[in-house]
Amino acid sequence: MLNVVIFGPPGSGKGTQSQKIIEKYGLTHISTGDLLRREIHTNTHLGVIAKSYIDRGELVPDETIIEMLDHFMDNLPKVKGIIFDGFPRTVIQAEAFQKMLKNNNTSLSVMLNLEVDRQELIDRLLLRGETSGRSDDNLETITKRLEVYENRTSPVISFYKEVKLYQAIKGMGSVDEIFQGICTVLDKHLEQ
Ligand code: AMP
Repeated sequence: MLNVVIFGPPGSGKGTQSQKIIEKYGLTHISTGDLLRREIHTNTHLGVIAKSYIDRGELVPDETIIEMLDHFMDNLPKVKGIIFDGFPRTVIQAEAFQKMLKNNNTSLSVMLNLEVDRQELIDRLLLRGETSGRSDDNLETITKRLEVYENRTSPVISFYKEVKLYQAIKGMGSVDEIFQGICTVLDKHLEQ
């Protein structure tokens, strides 16, 4: 299986690049943000809890996210590979994820870190906010999300460097240029 984590700060293009990866490599997509927004939309208990965190730009608690992902993995039919988008977002999630993959007799192929300058992230998210309808794409929440990323999510980079699954990707430039960088890495993994 080709299992990929697509990682990076809010606005780094994880969702956009995931769509292109799915099309080219036939992977199954899991975005924890999308799953949470679906829960909010259908007004479930989980959705009500998640909304209070998302609207403040905070992370949803690890136990909730890990349980949600466990459920997804348990109900997954046989697939070619999975792209994990927006997960893991803390070192605790990354540790639980390693165990989860092992329990499912699989492992992670690579973690792709999209590197983008801070001002570019803010510009992209504000632009997205004009059409996304997302309650968290406003300047105040964006600033909070970037702070949470620095403090709680960026340590995940060291975790993947240590287990030798880390791969930096230049996340600036056109969507196609960035995708080209991703393809070079994924093609190498497929050849192995
Ligand atoms: P995203 O769509 O990935 O930008 O996620 C939107 C929001 O959902 C984040 O700002 C968090 O509040 C929440 N969220 C998504 N994925 C996670 C995760 N893995 N851990 C904690 N919170 C998450």
